[in-house]
Amino acid sequence: MKVFDFKKIKEYSIFIWLIIITIIAILSSAIYRQNTADQNIKLKETLDNIYLKKTLVEITNNLQPRYSTINYTSKSGDTYQSIIDSLDITKKEKQIILNSILINKSLKILNINQKFFFKFDNLLNQKIIEFKIETDKKNEIVFFRTENSEKLQSKKIKKNYTKKLVYKETVITDSLYNSAINLGINANVIIEFARLYGFQVDFQRDIWKEDSFQIIYEEFINEKNEIVDTGDIIFANLNLQNTDLQLYRFEYNKNKIDFFDENGKSIKKTLMKTPINGARLSSSYGKRKHPILGYTKMHTGTDFAAPTGTPIMASGDGKVTKAGWCGGGGNCVKIKHNSKYQTIYAHMSKFGRGIKKGVRVKQGQIIGYVGSTGMSTGPHLHYEVIENGKKVNSQKLKLPSGKVLKGEERKRFEVSKIKIDVLKSDLITKTN
Ligand SMILES: [Zn+2]
Repeated sequence: MKVFDFKKIKEYSIFIWLIIITIIAILSSAIYRQNTADQNIKLKETLDNIYLKKTLVEITNNLQPRYSTINYTSKSGDTYQSIIDSLDITKKEKQIILNSILINKSLKILNINQKFFFKFDNLLNQKIIEFKIETDKKNEIVFFRTENSEKLQSKKIKKNYTKKLVYKETVITDSLYNSAINLGINANVIIEFARLYGFQVDFQRDIWKEDSFQIIYEEFINEKNEIVDTGDIIFANLNLQNTDLQLYRFEYNKNKIDFFDENGKSIKKTLMKTPINGARLSSSYGKRKHPILGYTKMHTGTDFAAPTGTPIMASGDGKVTKAGWCGGGGNCVKIKHNSKYQTIYAHMSKFGRGIKKGVRVKQGQIIGYVGSTGMSTGPHLHYEVIENGKKVNSQKLKLPSGKVLKGEERKRFEVSKIKIDVLKSDLITKTN
């Protein structure tokens, strides 16, 4: 028997080479790793150098962009003055801007949700070089500076948007908000939907698993087929425990728009049932405790559990009679609506802008934000209604509805309602 079988070694040579190559690869990568580790340590040492650090900070601080822009959407309580005052520009320039707005006839009234855009040149003394104000969803006014002029020029611009009507429907599985978000409905639309139903629905107690909703609303699409904005809700139906709560948008008089049920009754009431952003209310569907069990005998109001900072609205028009500390109620607001009704909102984290004793408020205006001040175990709104001096259950209150359409208005409403119903069935056919 031979000790060395050269023939065999030749046969295995391929494997021997493979082993050699693998060893070389492992060794070289280990050396490379060691090298990069060394380099990293060196780089870190250099960066830790205090002088270099200072220089870097200085360089980046000086790297402010030449142009900057601000986008703003008007909120309740805003004025042109308050919006302009919040800009970081000189007093003189603020005045020039304000004057240009005030002489423009199409901007006479500042609405809620109006969009503002400002563009600044940070190298100039008079920083503002352009600003835009949306007059409606399809039009905006652009103001710009012309050379050697103290005044700003303005131009009306039509936005190149197409309006599209969208129909969505779903069964509520976990929460109204999540179910709507899952359908791709914009958050603004959901909040508006909750606000409209806030007159008749207590979002924390009235909605049950398997309830459903339908909605038709406007979307604005640009040339690239992207959704740029959402518009109005045209129709909605909330089906709660097999009862339909329908609402139809209707212009009953020139520029006077409201939502009505199928019988032509305005959905608006003197007081709202949910005086809080209903879309943000928390509730555990199905598994929740019976609402009555959640109350102690002495509980004279309704609690709405919501995250700290959730806006609280005035449930009706009225005058603020208190905005301050109420002991166990923490930061609270009291509103007198008329000779019959008063409402109280407790445990707020902070008050709304300009909310103090003696101030008049509009229904839906933000008067404060959810908190847990006073005797409270967690962030919630404690809401009370006082009727003729006595505390009553706000959720059982039967309030007369607002406007009821009659005569000529009712006839036009019926026509508009049929049109919306036809539109709805068209959109449903298209969706399926
Ligand atoms: Zn309470």
